[in-house]
Amino acid sequence: MTARLKGHAEARGAALRRLPSVDDVLKADAAAVAIDRFGRTATVAAVRAALAETRAALRVGGDTPEPGVSSARVAEAALARLVTDARPAVRPVFNLTGVVLHTNLGRAVLAEAAIEAAVTAMRRTIALEFDLTTGKRGERDGLVRDLLCELTGAEDATVVNNNAAAVLLVLNTLAKGREAIVSRGELIEIGGAFRMPDIMARAGAKLVEVGTTNRTHPTDYAAALNARTGLVLKVHTSNYRIEGFTSAVPARDLVALARDKNVPVVDDLGSGTLIDLARFGLAHEPTVAEAVAAGADLVTFSGDKLLGGPQAGFVVGRRDLIQKINRNPMKRALRVDKIRLAAIEATLKLYRDPDRLVETLPTLRHLARPQADILAQAQRLVPALAAALGDEFEVTADACASRIGSGALPQETLSSGALVARPRTERGAGRALERAAKTLRDLPVPVIGRIADGVLVLDLRCLDDEAGFLTTLASLRGGADALA
Ligand SMILES: *Cc1c(COP(=O)(O)O)cnc(C)c1O
Repeated sequence: MTARLKGHAEARGAALRRLPSVDDVLKADAAAVAIDRFGRTATVAAVRAALAETRAALRVGGDTPEPGVSSARVAEAALARLVTDARPAVRPVFNLTGVVLHTNLGRAVLAEAAIEAAVTAMRRTIALEFDLTTGKRGERDGLVRDLLCELTGAEDATVVNNNAAAVLLVLNTLAKGREAIVSRGELIEIGGAFRMPDIMARAGAKLVEVGTTNRTHPTDYAAALNARTGLVLKVHTSNYRIEGFTSAVPARDLVALARDKNVPVVDDLGSGTLIDLARFGLAHEPTVAEAVAAGADLVTFSGDKLLGGPQAGFVVGRRDLIQKINRNPMKRALRVDKIRLAAIEATLKLYRDPDRLVETLPTLRHLARPQADILAQAQRLVPALAAALGDEFEVTADACASRIGSGALPQETLSSGALVARPRTERGAGRALERAAKTLRDLPVPVIGRIADGVLVLDLRCLDDEAGFLTTLASLRGGADALA
């Protein structure tokens, strides 16, 4: 060992021996602040952790020996650790991805009316399964059943955890140990391991595929229908589209075929909108009422996609089938809680006044927001983003295209506006973009954009809180260095 290295080792040993005790650290100012904010137990644990970390760092050692570590420094490290750990894991972010219903960002933002209803349900006891007229036990689904029937024209309705649960429950109730017929063109996978064949297997139904990927005809279904058939399933091919030489059998024709054999037809709409989106300039997406009117015996759809409510799955349709579903023990395992029921009821009630939905329902407000409005906002915000990102980037307000997301109208884009950050030099541009995106994700309220074609795009379609966005960007002021 050289004299220099020996010197380092000795200095490290001395620093280790001189490390303050837990009690010493607890006397430091920062420890008092920590105890006041987080309590003694958590502070002692954080101090121990900070000491262990310091000890480990000293053992590994750098090239330069550490000077003695003070109690104050360990206490500050402990406080910093407690502050970081206290940050909620469920954090708000700015969704500037350009995907309105982003599954990874929690899909629909709820309406104020739904939020108020949910808060009341959290704060108060409610008549959840209690009939206030008779004073006897009531039904939890009864709270929203009539509304669902009113808005869809269905005879009866039930609610579960999400649409995946709705499909599982319907298959299990009507086709357990029996056959379920599906077109090969509709055997979809939706993100997050929801694959129709797997759900079928778990539901105990035997999948009978008919037709081909691109074309399925009425005769294909007719040939597969038999005494073992539990149901015919029509699945909305939410997240993709087959184009060219294609043919599918509309639900109405399936109903005519299956009714002869007394087999129910189930239409899984996926997103399931309650109103015609064409009135907002979007492509027509079949509404739940249309699916019911086409004669499907049951229709399933999501609560937090185009409907704009909380996560939920709805099954509407024939009363005898809904009753059968409600008697399935699985229903109990898949039911929704009082908080969501309250939010669902309030959301559905907004649909009684469709003319005002653009004001009352954030999802529709976002979808219907005019491009001119978004571009004007982008113009206003150019200087703030330019200041936050520094000289390395040129920031402009440009047109862009948003998507609806969550498998609704996958082909459809909405003309939108964005803040676009373009690296000024080509060398290292890719890394600069990644760094900028990371910097924005690290903000107090993380900003999530997308990198495409050599630029960072912040689509402002869903930016409601402009002031909050400016505040979070301002924490980077002079922060060009943070990017370097
Ligand atoms: C999204 C979707 C589902 C799953 O709905 P979740 O509410 O996400 O559980 C099922 N079927 C189709 C066709 C869908 O688009």
